[in-house]
Amino acid sequence: MRPGAVALVTGANRGIGLETARQLALRGAVVLLGSRDPGRGADAVRSLGADGAGIRPVALDVTDPDSVTALAKRLDRDHGRLDVLVNNAGVFLGATAADTTAELTRDLLAVNVVGPVAVIHALLPLLRRSPAPRIVNVSSTTASFGLTCAGADLPGDASVRMAYTASKAALNMLTVQYDLAFRRDPELAHLKINSASPGWTATAMNGFRAPRTAAEGARSVVDLATLPDDGPSGGFFDEHGALAW
Ligand code: NAP
Repeated sequence: MRPGAVALVTGANRGIGLETARQLALRGAVVLLGSRDPGRGADAVRSLGADGAGIRPVALDVTDPDSVTALAKRLDRDHGRLDVLVNNAGVFLGATAADTTAELTRDLLAVNVVGPVAVIHALLPLLRRSPAPRIVNVSSTTASFGLTCAGADLPGDASVRMAYTASKAALNMLTVQYDLAFRRDPELAHLKINSASPGWTATAMNGFRAPRTAAEGARSVVDLATLPDDGPSGGFFDEHGALAW
C-alpha cells in the first residue's frame, strides 16, 4: 500500500471493521471509519488512543442511498480519490430455515449484499482515480458451497444461518462478477477485488463466543486491502490462502 493511501472501512465502529481500520492506519493509510451512528464512530476512534491518529469517523449507513451519496461527495471534496474500500458492514440473522421469513431475509440482504453494491457503485469513480485501487468484500467461510456440500465442519451452529450464508455466497459471486467486469475495462483493469474470510472471530455478532480475536480476524482483510500490484483478484481467501468457493 502506498503511503497516504485513502481507505474506507464500512461498519467500522466495532469488531473486525474497527480492527481493520486500526491496522490499515498503522500501515500509513488515511482511514475513514464508516459508522451508521456518528457518535459510535467518534467513540470508536477515541478508543484506539494513539493508534487512531490517522483515522477519521464518517457517517455511513450502507442501506441509505442519501448517506452513501453524501459520503461519496465528501470523499471527492476532501481526497479526490479512494485507494482502498473494505465492505465490512454486515449483520447476522440467527434463525432456523423454518423460522426464516422473507422480511428478515430482505433486511439481511439489504446490508450484506445490496449495501456493497450501493457503496461500490457510488465510489467507483473515486477508485478509478487511484493508481492501485483495492476492494475487499468481507465474506465468511460459511459461504463456501465446496465446504458446505462436502459436509466439512464449519464453525458455529449451522442450523441457524441459512440466510446469512446465502448472503455471503451472493457477496462472493459479486466479487467474481466485479472482477470479470473490471478486467474487461482498460480503466479498471488495475482494480483488485477479493473476498476475505476472517474466520470465527469473537465480536458482538456472535456474543463474543468465538476463538479468534478481532486482530486475528482482520488479518486476511488487511492483507487483501494492501495487495501488491502482482497480487490476485477475483478470489476468496483467508489468511492461509485460497478457499473453496
Ligand atoms: P459486528 O461487531 O456486529 O460489526 C458489524 C458492523 O456492521 C457494526 O459496526 C455495525 O454497526 C455495522 N453495520 C450493520 N448494519 C449496518 C449498516 N446498515 N450500515 C453500516 N454499518 C452497518 O460484527 P463483526 O463480526 O465485526 O462483523 C464484521 C464483518 O465480518 C461482517 O460482514 C460479518 O458478516 C463478517 N464476519 C464475521 C465473522 C465472525 O466470526 N465475527 C466471521 C465471518 C465473517 P452498528 O454498531 O451500528 O450496528
